Amino acid sequence: MAAIHSRFRITNGHRFRLKQIRPGDTAGLDSKDETASRLARGLESLRNQQEKLYAQGTWALLLIIQAMDAAGKDSTIEHVMSGVNPQGCQVSAFKAPSTEELAHDFLWRTTTRLPRRGQIGVFNRSYYEEVLVVRVHPELLTKQRLPSSLVSKNIWSERFEDINAFERHLRRSGVAILKFFLHVSKETQRERFLERIDTPAKNWKFALGDVRERAHWREYMAAYEDMIRHTATPDAPWWVVPADHKWFTRLVVAEAIADTMKNLGLHFPAIDAAQRKELAAARAALRREGS
Ligand code: ATP
Ligand code: MG
Repeated sequence: MAAIHSRFRITNGHRFRLKQIRPGDTAGLDSKDETASRLARGLESLRNQQEKLYAQGTWALLLIIQAMDAAGKDSTIEHVMSGVNPQGCQVSAFKAPSTEELAHDFLWRTTTRLPRRGQIGVFNRSYYEEVLVVRVHPELLTKQRLPSSLVSKNIWSERFEDINAFERHLRRSGVAILKFFLHVSKETQRERFLERIDTPAKNWKFALGDVRERAHWREYMAAYEDMIRHTATPDAPWWVVPADHKWFTRLVVAEAIADTMKNLGLHFPAIDAAQRKELAAARAALRREGS
């Protein structure tokens, strides 16, 4: 089956334009029902790969999810990770930084949450907020109390450079990085916000601040585009995933992860002759107990 996710994968950002990807795209697929078995296969493959990742304990996987509000970050994580062993997976959500976090460099708080070998770490928002919300609201930068001599108009390109260097370091240390921008349209966000307001069980998800951020839509899209142009690399690609149809978002994300893991060549640890001997001895001892 053709890898649908690859058409949304950006490994070299230089030519990327956000308008190349339509939030409503479903790659010719029709509906949730029709693709349910395909999604199930993707999740099954993901589960099998995770078992190997965990058993082998050499690679780690870092999944970064970025999006505007109501694009479906939470539900994508919930669905795509539903089949994996919880022992091998940690989700970290990054909200507005605390005073302690603000007192450190901008990579500090996420670094402490990186996955160890054998694990999948999911970042629900990440250090990329530092070139998104902070760029759209430069007053947030003031709160970081950087020495003024270090803050110039080049700060965003310097941050891109630092992020690229950091991700290259992670990759060289055995952390495979997949980055997803769930690309929702402004109209779909409006509909989802209205649904959150009109459905009592969803009221808790709605914050007035979300509507304020919506007013900066164009600035956010420009920041996302520039971010992807500067930080999409072969070792840490971005997937710009159409997010107006949640079933399609899940399918693309699940297949992207499963496929990437397959390419890591994960396998269960092989045992050597000495270990095989130990197993044979253990088997014999256990059999003797039973007789
Ligand atoms: P949900 O609203 O679905 O619960 P969320 O991820 O939107 O999930 P919020 O409680 O709304 O969670 O908090 C996220 C807010 O924190 C976002 O507006 C985001 O831009 C902001 N934020 C995240 N990281 C930073 C950062 N480094 N600096 C400033 N603001 C940040
Ligand atoms: Mg929010």
